[in-house]
Amino acid sequence: MPTITKIEIIDLNIPFNHPFKIALAVMNSAHNIIVRVHDSDGLIGIGEGVPSRFVTGEDADNGFESAKLYAQLLIGKNPLEINTRLRELEQYMLKNPAIRCAYDLAFYDLLAKHAELPLYALLGGTKQVLHSNRTIGIDAPDKMAKIAKQHVENGVKALKVKVGTGRNEDLARIRAIREAVGSGIPMRLDANQAWDEITAINILTALAEYEIEVCEQPLPYWNFEGLKRVRERSPIAIMADESIFDAHDAFRLASLGAVDYFNIKLAKSAGIHGALKINAIGEAAGIKCMLGGMSESLIGVSAGAHLVCVCPNIALHDLDSPFHFAEEPSIGGVDFQVNGTVTLSDAYGHGADVSPEWVEKSKRLVIGD
Ligand code: MG
Repeated sequence: MPTITKIEIIDLNIPFNHPFKIALAVMNSAHNIIVRVHDSDGLIGIGEGVPSRFVTGEDADNGFESAKLYAQLLIGKNPLEINTRLRELEQYMLKNPAIRCAYDLAFYDLLAKHAELPLYALLGGTKQVLHSNRTIGIDAPDKMAKIAKQHVENGVKALKVKVGTGRNEDLARIRAIREAVGSGIPMRLDANQAWDEITAINILTALAEYEIEVCEQPLPYWNFEGLKRVRERSPIAIMADESIFDAHDAFRLASLGAVDYFNIKLAKSAGIHGALKINAIGEAAGIKCMLGGMSESLIGVSAGAHLVCVCPNIALHDLDSPFHFAEEPSIGGVDFQVNGTVTLSDAYGHGADVSPEWVEKSKRLVIGD
């Protein structure tokens, strides 16, 4: 059996092409942690974690340190015993889902490379072309409408729209976008916890006529009972995002009947292992899932796309984070077009890696030989 001989930790600091505003923050760059896990058979598994202060409670600095501590724990061990390795990481340090995600993705990538299979095939999935929505950040209604129109003209099949600055502004945004794109394009809202119960019910009721497919996280992350009450009175389906990290959250939300959808993000679920559990609970409860993202490069996006091909219950795809980047730091993996189509490669594993140029210019640490 192979053993882990060396782990590279790379801190990718990726500038955005435009500031991206959501109800929680304005983002100007992504700061992602990559791990490259080398084994004694000469194979390398690559994983990415996206620490986010306002979602996972991690940042790039403490993420880099956590990745280093985990690396010291992992050297000399068998990387193919994924369940045992992940349990050790979870027991070693509480939380840290984004950094545990980086290792989870690297282990699955490595396992697929040993099996000489693409990751979706290793997990029993069926290759398909995915259609990601394109996401529009918070801005003036006319600016958002213009961007929406451009996306639809490019062939995008669904839009995700960030809202959450106030009732009248949010209503004006949705009206302007629907007028610009016409009927028939599904619109997914994301309030990123901005509203209280009354505001949420008020706004969602007023939006009933605008063909809104779902509203993501209308309330603060902790308010599971409030989500249930909003769902009972809203004409629009409700999705949990910041409220759902792991299988325990999924079980509680499903038991309460609090939401119609789960938004699975690998950085919250600590990778594929946790995501499969959330999806299974959703499927058992009749709750469809979205595969969403934070600010993943094509490494995290590729791993997510492979997972979607394994889980038919993951019905909605929100994978467009690489379009925010001024420059893509990774190579290989999925092919992503401006119309939102995502096509998987037949490379072994998820197929993506950091480009040599970005390895060269990024903060990097090597643990092991
Ligand atoms: Mg969200």
